[in-house]
Amino acid sequence: MKYQIASLFVLCIGLAQCQSPSYTTPPQEQLTIQSKKMEIQAPQSLTNEEWKKILNPQQYEVLREKGTERAFTGKYWNHKEKGEYHCAGCGAPLFQSDTKFDSGCGWPSYFKPIADSAIHEHLDKSHGMIRTEVTCSKCGGHLGHVFTDGPAPTGLRYCINSASIEFIPEEGKVK
Ligand code: FE
Repeated sequence: MKYQIASLFVLCIGLAQCQSPSYTTPPQEQLTIQSKKMEIQAPQSLTNEEWKKILNPQQYEVLREKGTERAFTGKYWNHKEKGEYHCAGCGAPLFQSDTKFDSGCGWPSYFKPIADSAIHEHLDKSHGMIRTEVTCSKCGGHLGHVFTDGPAPTGLRYCINSASIEFIPEEGKVK
């Protein structure tokens, strides 16, 4: 309910902005390209200083600066409880425990997101590699990368930093 109200508020703000002749909403592709040069001006985006007040240093480095935690050091790579994994930046639901699998790579791995709309994908040519970066579609926070060596039914491996997510236990279960 909280998110529905927040979404309605953001929608109203967005509509108000669209009615302004001086404001043009850039397509998502442009936002992605621009994100390496400037902060994404998405509806719920905050300034770096505001993010630093919300996130701990590791979360900030991964989510906002596209960092990567060391393999086998995050709190969820071997986590097996039932529940959902939400964005550590904005709280948006991202992955479900029943899509998590043991990839052996040292990072929490999922074969699909909770919904296609939950994440955005971007071509990433950094560090001499060509990869597909995945970000939270709500706040733009960096989550990790998706690879094509995952299990059935998708054949995909969403390799996600533990620092980017927060586990929410299944309702009624004791953590
Ligand atoms: Fe987010």
